[in-house]
Amino acid sequence: MKKSFFFASICILLYACNTPSVKNSKVDILSSNIDSTIKPGDDFFLYANGGWIKRTPIPASESGWGIGNLVMEENYTRLKKINEDAVAAKATEGSITQKIGDFWQSAMDTIAINKAGLAPLKNDLDKINATKNIVELLEVAAELKTKGIKFFFNDYVAQDDKNSEVMAFRLDQGGLGMPNRDYYFKTDPRTTAVRNAYKTYLVKTFKQLGNVEALAQKNADAVFLLETKLAKASRKLEDTRDPYTNYNKMDIAGLSKLTAAINWNNFIKNIGIYKLDSVIVGQPEFYTALNKELTTTSIDDWKNYLQFHLILGSARYMDIVTFNNYFDYSKSLSGADSPRPRWKRVLDAEENAIGEALGQLFVKEYFDETAKKRYSNLVEVIRAAYKERIAHLTWMSDSTKLKAYHKLAAITKKVGYPDKWKDFSTLQIDKRPYVLNIQRANKWWHQYNINKLTKPVDRTEWDMTPQTYNAYYNPGNNEMVLPAGMFSVPGMKDADLDNAFVYGYAAASTIGHEITHGFDDQGRQYDEAGNLKNWWNKQDAAQFNKRAKSIIEQFNEMVPVDTLHINGNATQGENIADLGGLLLGIDAFKKTAAFKKEEKINGLTPMQRYFLGYAYSWMYEERKERISSQVLTDVHAPAKERVNGPLVNIPAFYEAFGIKAGDKMYRADSLRVNIW
Ligand SMILES: [Zn+2]
Repeated sequence: MKKSFFFASICILLYACNTPSVKNSKVDILSSNIDSTIKPGDDFFLYANGGWIKRTPIPASESGWGIGNLVMEENYTRLKKINEDAVAAKATEGSITQKIGDFWQSAMDTIAINKAGLAPLKNDLDKINATKNIVELLEVAAELKTKGIKFFFNDYVAQDDKNSEVMAFRLDQGGLGMPNRDYYFKTDPRTTAVRNAYKTYLVKTFKQLGNVEALAQKNADAVFLLETKLAKASRKLEDTRDPYTNYNKMDIAGLSKLTAAINWNNFIKNIGIYKLDSVIVGQPEFYTALNKELTTTSIDDWKNYLQFHLILGSARYMDIVTFNNYFDYSKSLSGADSPRPRWKRVLDAEENAIGEALGQLFVKEYFDETAKKRYSNLVEVIRAAYKERIAHLTWMSDSTKLKAYHKLAAITKKVGYPDKWKDFSTLQIDKRPYVLNIQRANKWWHQYNINKLTKPVDRTEWDMTPQTYNAYYNPGNNEMVLPAGMFSVPGMKDADLDNAFVYGYAAASTIGHEITHGFDDQGRQYDEAGNLKNWWNKQDAAQFNKRAKSIIEQFNEMVPVDTLHINGNATQGENIADLGGLLLGIDAFKKTAAFKKEEKINGLTPMQRYFLGYAYSWMYEERKERISSQVLTDVHAPAKERVNGPLVNIPAFYEAFGIKAGDKMYRADSLRVNIW
């Protein structure tokens, strides 16, 4: 659906369906990236991308490097210029340009930031210190939550799954310092190394807060133990996929029964909600376990937990000591040797804080208005291909097919940038400490989301900014969203790209992928209006599940690093979308003149170039630490498996490259997965 923390799931969309095909173009990315020492039937990912990988080292500051980074390099340069121009503009107080300029200045002023040390957080730290019991602590925690610091659990506003017309307050498991529960329990060397780095980080932080070594160690142990108990009560990644078992609607009295130690009426009021009849609890057993810890863990341990999480959540915007302590831990997850350049980290933070404000300036300068129409057309080509595929399915009954057609026709598309921009006029950004700008921006977002509870659902809203290099499908709105940032092609012009390349690269990998999400293991459970409501008859649902099971098993077998297997269950939605996207792309491509003419470009047939174009959209090399983190935390498989995984199921792939029994990727007909 969306990309992962590491750019891994990025879907690229960069071209138009009406680009003229070019014979033997001077610059042919596809043929120049091939590693001819690899047989396509043995490892297609390496065959397609190996040439580029061999000549391209991963920068020391990166956990991986690939096509998404190449595209982002251009975007970063553009965004940097927008920021520098904003500083120079000396704009009117309160204008978007002033906010962007001041954000940049405060964030790049490392002399002032380092001199201040922890001082910008002193007020918050003192408040935590002054609390004498859980009731007071929860008051402080509620205030800090509005500033974006995460403790105890995850609370957020989202569409009600069962009534997409209204917004609901959701409570999920959370409160951990490491990415998820597995990091607290797995005993393989890589996970153990992350856990040890985290423990060291805890000790360093408590020393930084003024504790002597022994006390710092004691506090660190207590916080780690507390988090381990919360982790134990948390569901595994794959167990958070089922939209029904993770939907438990209750009133405040019901919630108070789960977690009596929290006065929920007070908590809700303290985070700015004045009227709330019900909440949706994702994992009730987590809230029962949290209650136990709130009543048995000492107030001192809880205060330490809050202090640590305040530092953890703020470290990226703080002085060099605080940042380095954090980085030493985070590199155990990413494998990067050094931090990324400051200006890029600042742009990432700015993206989170006021990304849409930045986006307004971005599209004004860099987005061609006509592209919006062009990509809209490509969506329709793929939609038509999907309808035909559904019509030809042998495993689905006619009555379910009719409903699928309705849902498919109802999918809305958002292309390029929103018609209506978010209004940041109430957000104050100034030249004072960087971390306080971040806190104010988080507070603005918190209030923005809370306000949604009293309004009808705004279906025109975008959850990604225009400059984002990614795309998503949102089941609640039954919509696909394709931001302008994906239209950039590193070092290439549209005219340099042939249709085969484009259909593999954009139509399959992005549009086909996102549209298939509407019909993956989760998406298929939502109806055309975005409600969690069954529209399948029993036999058809059983047929779908049987097929989904086969893709789960196929991915479970893959071992991308060490002895770590892919989590076939957790990644099934993405894998179904990749396979579906490729098949839709083929169907659509076969209708084009570029395919029918059968002309080779640089010795490659149209269908060969189609598959190479798809592989190019996943051209990544990744450090082992990153692959390992990804397998544990991400619903997307690593890049290599996103190429080789779906391809083994596709007859056109075998035909295009003459793959036969004996080749490593070969699978007999009966072992190939067939869903959409
Ligand atoms: Zn996806």
